Amino acid sequence: MHELSIAISIVELSEKEAKKANVSSVQEINLEVGTLSGIVVEALEFAMDEAVNDSVLQNAIIKIKKVPAIAKCLKCSKEFPVEDYYTPCPECNNFETELINGKELKIKSLVINK
Ligand SMILES: [Zn+2]
Repeated sequence: MHELSIAISIVELSEKEAKKANVSSVQEINLEVGTLSGIVVEALEFAMDEAVNDSVLQNAIIKIKKVPAIAKCLKCSKEFPVEDYYTPCPECNNFETELINGKELKIKSLVINK
């Protein structure tokens, strides 16, 4: 499952950060998932439940926020939210756009216990 491998890498990254900060547990983790990332938030939540076992995230509150995808028109440079790859520019109707946000998954922040 796609989301499980993502969840595992989130846990690994958190382990690293916790080690750097010299703490044994993370209180809260905030994730941002782009609406065009192809990640199903519900599936990721489910996968995180599994992946956090015996890790620094075991008792952490996991917050997942969906962030809207943003595209930029290559003609007039307007930036606008998109639901898919085929949305034309609302300004000039141009189909040549570049996705500047919304394809990624980010660890926005980790709240750690000292
Ligand atoms: Zn345009």
